[in-house]
Amino acid sequence: MEAFKGQNILSFIKELPDDEACKAYLAKIKWQDGFKCMKCGHTKGCEKSGYRYHCYSCNHVESATANTLFHKVKFGLQKAFCVVFEMSTSSKSVSSIQMGKRFNIRQGTAWFFMQKVRKTMKSSQQYPLSELVHVDEFTVGGKEEGKQGRSYDSKKKKAVIAVELSKKHQIKRVYVRSIDDYSAKSLTPIFEEHISTTAQIVTDKWRGYSPLKKDYKIEQKFSNNGKNFKELHIVIMQLKSWLRAIPTHVSKWHVQAYFDEFCFRINRSQFKETIFHKTIERMVIAKPIYHKNIKRILSV
Ligand SMILES: [Zn+2]
Repeated sequence: MEAFKGQNILSFIKELPDDEACKAYLAKIKWQDGFKCMKCGHTKGCEKSGYRYHCYSCNHVESATANTLFHKVKFGLQKAFCVVFEMSTSSKSVSSIQMGKRFNIRQGTAWFFMQKVRKTMKSSQQYPLSELVHVDEFTVGGKEEGKQGRSYDSKKKKAVIAVELSKKHQIKRVYVRSIDDYSAKSLTPIFEEHISTTAQIVTDKWRGYSPLKKDYKIEQKFSNNGKNFKELHIVIMQLKSWLRAIPTHVSKWHVQAYFDEFCFRINRSQFKETIFHKTIERMVIAKPIYHKNIKRILSV
């Protein structure tokens, strides 16, 4: 079986027509480098029917979904693959309410599974932004005042955004991080995780960025009502309108997962051919997440 390529939904249904085909697809990814028992680590075993492996050392029989984010998916693998297809290949995805209606899944169940997919959309932090990078803070939720800059409304969720621009000021990549306040301490992680020390960084005049100047090349410019950060504000507007269109409440605990999903689609818009397969691969590698842990894990 070949890796699925592209965004065509008819080809997708044709290539992965049922739960069995999806299970075969998972097994191929999971054991592409050979079998390794999840219980004892032994590498000798034999394939059994139903895309399972029998370990010769401890006799454990492992399914294709065991120890992956597809473990115990209640509504069937094909529907799970369809949700991943929708979230990864479309430009905006849909809400858990719409996803539930589309695939006949309860809204809460769809939401929980979508949170797992979002977890795999989190950046690996291996490729920091390295060219011209604009950084600014913004808020989401609460009442929109129509003005830019820092807001201290406690109902709003605060965030910091870094946008990498090409020489022609085209948006290349974006990272967004949820923050508790605008202090240098809160602003530092997005630099450490996503921006190279060699990048040419531009921020507004906010004093929270000053301590970072000792490690990063930061130029501080007057925002001029956002005119000096035009592209960055376009991305913020896109992110806000996408979040506003989500009919369910996005809590402070989970907003980071939505930021990760938004950035994942922008940063991989050039790689739509392989985006579905890569997302499935990430879901196979990721450790299972249980209901009781999702609030805590996703809020880290
Ligand atoms: Zn074993």
